[in-house]
Amino acid sequence: ASKGGGKMRCTWFMAEFDRNLEAIRKLDEELRSALRNNEFRVNYQPLVDAQTRKVVAVESLIRWARPDGKMVGPSIFIPVAEESGLIHAIGLFVLRQSCQDALDWNGIKLSVNISAAQLRDPEFPIQLGQILEDTGFAPELLELEITETCLVLDPIVAERSLDVIRGFGVNVVLDDFGTGYASIGFLRQFRFEKLKLDRSLIVGSADDEGSRAMMLSSISMAQALKMDVTAEGVETEAQADLVRAAGCDQIQGWLYFKAMPADQISQHLTPASVNSPTVSLPKKAAS
Ligand code: C2E
Ligand code: MG
Ligand code: MG
Ligand code: MG
Repeated sequence: ASKGGGKMRCTWFMAEFDRNLEAIRKLDEELRSALRNNEFRVNYQPLVDAQTRKVVAVESLIRWARPDGKMVGPSIFIPVAEESGLIHAIGLFVLRQSCQDALDWNGIKLSVNISAAQLRDPEFPIQLGQILEDTGFAPELLELEITETCLVLDPIVAERSLDVIRGFGVNVVLDDFGTGYASIGFLRQFRFEKLKLDRSLIVGSADDEGSRAMMLSSISMAQALKMDVTAEGVETEAQADLVRAAGCDQIQGWLYFKAMPADQISQHLTPASVNSPTVSLPKKAAS
C-alpha cells in the first residue's frame, strides 16, 4: 500500500505542478495584456522627515487595476513578471510615469523600486538616462531602491551599472534591510546613500527587547557608514518615537501615510517657499 501511495502522491504532485505552471502562464498572459491596455497604476507613499514630520520624499508603488474592478498588489504579480521577463517593460513604465508625475512636487525626492533583473540588464542605465532626458526630471531627486538579491546574483555587473547610474547624479538605496543574509558585507562595497530598515525590524521593536536591539544596532551601523536611514512600516507612535530617538532620518508607514494616487500628493506638500530657503518669493506690493 505504501508503494502505491508513493506513486499516487507523485502523480498528484505532477498534476499540482502542471496546474501551477498553467496558473503562472495565464497570469503572465494577463499581465502582458494589462501593459498593452494601460491597466497599471503607480501610487505614491510619502516619507516624512523624522524630526519635522514634513513630507520629504515619495516611494512609487505599482498596482494593477484589473478590468473587473479589482486592485491587485505587486507581491502577487511582480514575481511572475520577474520570472517571465516582463519586469523590464513594467519597470520602465513605472520609472517614466513616476518621473513625469513627480515633476510638480516641489523638489521632494522620488524613490523607485528596481528589480534584480532590471539592474542586471546592461541596457538599463541607458534607458534610465533616456527617461531622465525625456521627462526633464532632476536626477539628483531620484533614488533607486534595490535589494541585495541584485548584488548577490551578479555583483560585477551590478557595480558597473551602479557606477553609471550614480554618474547621472541618481542615489542608490538598499531596500528591505534586515530580511536578507549578505547585507553587511555588501554595505561597504556598494556604499549606498541610504538604508531602508524593513518592517520586520520595526514591528516588534516597541515591545520586544531583542527586536529593539537589532533595530538600534542597524541604525548605528548605518550611521557609522554615513548612510541615511529610513524606517519602513511604522504603524504606531511608540515605534515612531523609538526610531526618531535612535536617529532615523526618515519615517515611512501607515502611521503617517498610505500609498495614494498621484493627484492626491500635492495637498500633503509644504509650499516650495518654505521647503527651499534659497527661493524667496517677492513680497506682494501694497496697492
Ligand atoms: P517595498 O519596496 O519594501 O515597499 C514597501 C511596502 O510596504 C509597500 O507594499 C507598502 O504599501 C507597504 N507599507 C508601507 N507602510 C506600511 C505599514 O505601515 N504597514 C504595512 N503593513 N505595510 C506598509 P506594496 O505596495 O504592497 O509593495 C510590496 C513590494 O512590491 C514592495 O516592497 C516592492 O518590493 C515591490 N514593488 C512595488 N512596486 C514596485 C515596482 O514598481 N517595481 C518593482 N520591481 N517592485 C515593486
Ligand atoms: Mg521599496
Ligand atoms: Mg522595503
Ligand atoms: Mg519591505
